[in-house]
Amino acid sequence: MNNDVLNTPIEFLKGVGPKRADILKSELAIYTFRDLLDHFPFRYVDRSKTVPVKNILESQGSVQISVTIKDVKELGQPRKKRLLVSAYDDSGTVQLVWFKGIKWIKPTIKIGHQYVVFGKPTSYGGSFNFNHPEMELEEKNKSKIGNLQPVYHSTEKLTAFGLHSKGMENLMRNLMPQVLKYIPQTLSNKIEQKNHFPSINQAYENIHFPKEKLFLQKSILRLKYEELFFLQLSMTRQKINTRNKLKGFIFKYVGDNFNDFFKKHLPFELTGAQKRVVKEIRKDLGAGVHMNRLLQGDVGSGKTLVAVLTILLSIDNGFQSCLMAPTEILANQHYKSIVNFLGPLGIKVSLLTGSVKKSDRKIIHESLENGSLNVLVGTHALLEDKVKFKNLGLAVIDEQHRFGVAQRAKLWKKNTQPPHVLVMTATPIPRTLAMTFYGDLDVSVIDELPPGRKPINTTHKFDSSRLKVFQFIEDEIKKGHQVYIVYPLIEESEKLDYKDLMDGYESIVRRFPLPNYQVSIVHGKMKPEAKEYEMNQFVSGKTQIMVATTVIEVGVDVPNASLMIIESAEKFGLSQLHQLRGRVGRGAEKSYCILMSGYKLSKEAKIRLETMVRTTDGFEISEQDLKIRGPGDIMGTQQSGVLDFKLADLARDGQIVQLSKIDVDQILKEDVNISKSGKCIYKKRINPSNEIKTKLE
Ligand code: ADP
Ligand code: MG
Repeated sequence: MNNDVLNTPIEFLKGVGPKRADILKSELAIYTFRDLLDHFPFRYVDRSKTVPVKNILESQGSVQISVTIKDVKELGQPRKKRLLVSAYDDSGTVQLVWFKGIKWIKPTIKIGHQYVVFGKPTSYGGSFNFNHPEMELEEKNKSKIGNLQPVYHSTEKLTAFGLHSKGMENLMRNLMPQVLKYIPQTLSNKIEQKNHFPSINQAYENIHFPKEKLFLQKSILRLKYEELFFLQLSMTRQKINTRNKLKGFIFKYVGDNFNDFFKKHLPFELTGAQKRVVKEIRKDLGAGVHMNRLLQGDVGSGKTLVAVLTILLSIDNGFQSCLMAPTEILANQHYKSIVNFLGPLGIKVSLLTGSVKKSDRKIIHESLENGSLNVLVGTHALLEDKVKFKNLGLAVIDEQHRFGVAQRAKLWKKNTQPPHVLVMTATPIPRTLAMTFYGDLDVSVIDELPPGRKPINTTHKFDSSRLKVFQFIEDEIKKGHQVYIVYPLIEESEKLDYKDLMDGYESIVRRFPLPNYQVSIVHGKMKPEAKEYEMNQFVSGKTQIMVATTVIEVGVDVPNASLMIIESAEKFGLSQLHQLRGRVGRGAEKSYCILMSGYKLSKEAKIRLETMVRTTDGFEISEQDLKIRGPGDIMGTQQSGVLDFKLADLARDGQIVQLSKIDVDQILKEDVNISKSGKCIYKKRINPSNEIKTKLE
């Protein structure tokens, strides 16, 4: 087969030439025949449907008409030329207008001929104008098989060179017969048959020039599937290879500690999701591979208990464990709950943070090295070189987005062979996204809350209801509860935001004065010690109100707090709102979240607030977030670029993600090196234009 045809530089295509080639490269990163082939239409127009001119409505958006050209005029000064074409059908007349690319368009428009015109009508002086419409001779239009016309993305520059959608379509018509038989096979027959996919050539031919709708859909499905399939294939292989290279400690036994705890000390029945996740973890730990697992679960889903059970397994097999949290407060809280769980079993637990005294540190260091200490809980103080374990077998990390990969790697080095790593996060990432694209980590999900949780009552109030909200705060405090009031802090408007925060704080202090009320404030500009002090005042119940920026976002646990007020809630992202709301509803009391906002709300802000009021399900919220923001933003820089698909849309194509994931897993299960796959060519093709680009430079 001759693959070189596909690598032919684009200037050699009929209808391109050096000038258009430059534009195609700079505007669309189309360097070769292959790149053009992969430039897909973004929608299709049904050619068979046209609207009589008299029935055009501006509000309809784009329409298609069938009209005859009456006359063609070029008006204006040389640099500000317009091409004005009037055209009619038997119900009325319209104007077709061009400001750019006149040189290319004009010769294609013939007076007296009938054209199919597609575009967006705007009302102008009693009739309709179409600016820069797509058009084609009616006879040519009719002669084409099928009635779906491809529409390609274009830009002003492209249009100026005659490469509007129609122009692109013409190039594609020149290209297709030249390359079609050289498109290499990508998927095995087995996969094609299993999924009822058209062949690769048929898929390409149909996505550009569809013959009918169903076949078009199948073609798009196949090409979307391929994008997801090859990315997952390469990521999963990478994961498997790393796994195979890294040996892990084998936790062979489920011993006395685990069983004792499970039978006698477990304060409640595990949820189904917790059970499943513990099973997944146990499978890793027994297999002799290195566990590097992300445990995802909504706030309050009971991740700590899963960590505790994993720690017990580690102890039963003669290993030490550590648990690292991003802040001192969180480390403290973890320490307390772990001592609560494990103390009765005679397991030794210590806490190491920046504020632990030197003399106490020394004791901790010693007991770690001689092995008498089983579990060390702490902040990043754990990472210091001085902290040496006798035999660290498991590292648990809470709230992973606060720690970088580099910090995780440091923990790996705390033993001759890396300890198993369990990373816990409450940042909901849509399941399809996490399971398939979370880099080097395997993912477990707790998708169920312990029974008996009272849903948090969430309402949206405008700033004008502030007096009522103040009254509500007073009522909650009278019941002995505590209240959070959170302000946004956005870098670009930092000064203004601080002013809002301080103004808000002052008005709260005025409304809730000493000595009956105590108000804490925490923000990023305070010294860490001052922050820590104020937080502790609130945690210990000495203050009733906590005014703060999002610094309190991460897992602080104050079960007595029953009300969360979020100021300027329209400025927060969905996942942040969800995290903040998760600070309440942790105790036995009915809890509330009030989202305050101004009247002026963008469409997206409205959707965010409505979503928050409608649901407390973190995964539903993250799916919505994915729809609004797109996967790139959600995954942060970690995966940037990798998730730029031409066709696939992770927010909508979850099913195709799963379909391809199943196939990838099956293939790799049969043959990790993909060596036996015979005729099938699994070829990774991510961003082909980038590859070419680097080659040309
Ligand atoms: P998170 O996942 O946010 O870290 P925690 O581990 O702090 O959640 O658990 C939240 C609360 O739920 C804790 O008070 C914990 O004791 C309780 N809990 C955990 N698992 C269960 C369960 N299976 N049944 C009832 N309560 C549970
Ligand atoms: Mg937690």
